[in-house]
Amino acid sequence: MPTVLILGGTGEARRLASALLPRYRVISSLAGRVADPARPVGEVRVGGFGGPSGLAKYLLDERIDTVVDATHPFAAQMSSNAAVASAASGVRLVVLRRPGYDLDPSWPRVDSLAEAAERLPSLGERAFITTGRQGIGYFRNIGIAGLVRCVEPPGPPELPEPLPANFTVLLARGPFTVDGETELMREHRIDVLVTKDSGGAMTAAKLEAARSLGIPVVVVDRPPVTPGVPVLSTVDEVARLLLA
Ligand code: NAP
Repeated sequence: MPTVLILGGTGEARRLASALLPRYRVISSLAGRVADPARPVGEVRVGGFGGPSGLAKYLLDERIDTVVDATHPFAAQMSSNAAVASAASGVRLVVLRRPGYDLDPSWPRVDSLAEAAERLPSLGERAFITTGRQGIGYFRNIGIAGLVRCVEPPGPPELPEPLPANFTVLLARGPFTVDGETELMREHRIDVLVTKDSGGAMTAAKLEAARSLGIPVVVVDRPPVTPGVPVLSTVDEVARLLLA
């Protein structure tokens, strides 16, 4: 039976594990950032590999036939490591990247969280910050109020100093609904939203809510995928390729 390593931490990675399990030995890898992660079926390993060389060694030691990089579109370091390690070990790599959000052309696009933080004060006075716990420190000094939503509470080492007093932290995990997002933004009198272009149905409702409330959305664009690596956009496409 061939062995597949799925670099995970996403719903797509979990669905792919279920799709491949009868025909593959499936090992899913999680970074270990979340205290109580949703677990895929099959074998699960948790924690970093020790950079590209550690991953290359793992691929050979575990006799991995195919690696699927099904990490979040913003997990750029892990994706880069996967590309380097698969090239070094000769193990096939496929990238599963869900499509980006349906974005309005008028919404400002930026390349980084730092740039997003810079833009916010010119666009509103009460920001809904949905870019996740990592990098939240960039928003500490925006000078306007912030509603921060993330899965795990922000803190050290990513956030060595507390958030300002006019920030509220809301711990929540999707899926979110348009009605719920609209009510949340009204309740907190949000007038600007910031998001990564993560894509996916679980978190897209905030954009529909912002659109209907006429709230501008600052969008952080995705980091590029390593050139030359095959990229598929759905679980079905990857499953078809691997099960063919
Ligand atoms: P990252 O910055 O790209 O990766 C940093 C390091 O974490 C990697 O070099 C690797 O350590 C380890 N790592 C990351 N993903 C791993 C995995 N699936 N299995 C084993 N080790 C992993 O990653 P990140 O942005 O912190 O994301 C961490 C995890 O959270 C990923 O699995 C991702 O799918 C998920 N996630 C990320 C976001 C986001 O916005 N970035 C959002 C939702 C979920 P070594 O070098 O030691 O191997």
